[in-house]
Amino acid sequence: MSGRLAGLIGSPVAHSLSPAIHRAGFAAAGVDWSYVAFDVPDGSAGEALAAMRVLGIAGLSVTMPHKRAVADAVDRLEPAARALASVNTVSWEDGRLVGSSTDGAGFVAALADDGIDVHGCRVAVIGAGGAARSVIDALGRAGAADITVLNRTLDTAELAATLASAASVGIVSDVGRADIVVNATSVGMGVDPVGADPADMPCDPALLRADQVVVDLVYHPLCTAWLRAAGDLGARTVDGLGMLVHQAVLQQERWIGTRPDTVAMRSAAEAELAAR
Ligand code: NAP
Repeated sequence: MSGRLAGLIGSPVAHSLSPAIHRAGFAAAGVDWSYVAFDVPDGSAGEALAAMRVLGIAGLSVTMPHKRAVADAVDRLEPAARALASVNTVSWEDGRLVGSSTDGAGFVAALADDGIDVHGCRVAVIGAGGAARSVIDALGRAGAADITVLNRTLDTAELAATLASAASVGIVSDVGRADIVVNATSVGMGVDPVGADPADMPCDPALLRADQVVVDLVYHPLCTAWLRAAGDLGARTVDGLGMLVHQAVLQQERWIGTRPDTVAMRSAAEAELAAR
């Protein structure tokens, strides 16, 4: 192998779209970089980072279950990663390993790519897990006027709402007051929208309005039953692949120093999904 090496650490990683997305970005940028998925067992993130130092691996993407452990193992954390105690990107800076969290910024960038500016918006976020926390943090940084957090488990919602001063815990009927509604739960993941029932949707679509932007972070399937119902109502819909691609774009910017081709990266992700 010539050139530079980047990779993904997580477990499992076999079905990750990251290799396809990153390889397409490197190819489009014309840089001699390779990208490999490493299945690293839970508890071994520190060893993986030590290997990165010794082997001179140029960049790492980090996924479950290592995001928190990597935050403890890098030399410096960027602000979002520090706030979330979670790292999805490791890069080099002056011989030190820097940990970043690009998921939330990727979410905001994906909406911006669709011409949607979250600044000043009222946003309802359904969910309070890792993805929701990244989104809430990024919405706060991007100047959302109001962030309502809705989650099955109240304690986690309360914790997530501390991530942004504009955030508070709400109830499901608050969805109707939002400009943007985000499904950040795993509900709908892997469910064929044809024949899906209400339990496969994060909230009753009857609560949604035609003038809202409705975003589903789930990207498999690309058009979930909930997103389809929102579209049928006339709402503007945004699928989860945009966030996935843009968090990878922000990773490559840190690694190769230039902005990669977002369109090529999205096409690669779509082709990979279609092949499954
Ligand atoms: P997570 O940390 O495990 O959180 C899961 C969330 O879903 C929690 O809020 C959980 O509520 C909620 N939930 C799960 N099952 C539920 C149910 N039956 N009814 C109601 N709520 C339920 O997972 P995550 O990492 O945040 O990921 C969430 C989703 O986002 C996944 O589908 C993932 O693929 C997707 N995602 C997408 C991107 C992207 O780039 N597009 C990035 C990251 C994640 P409780 O707290 O009550 O358990």
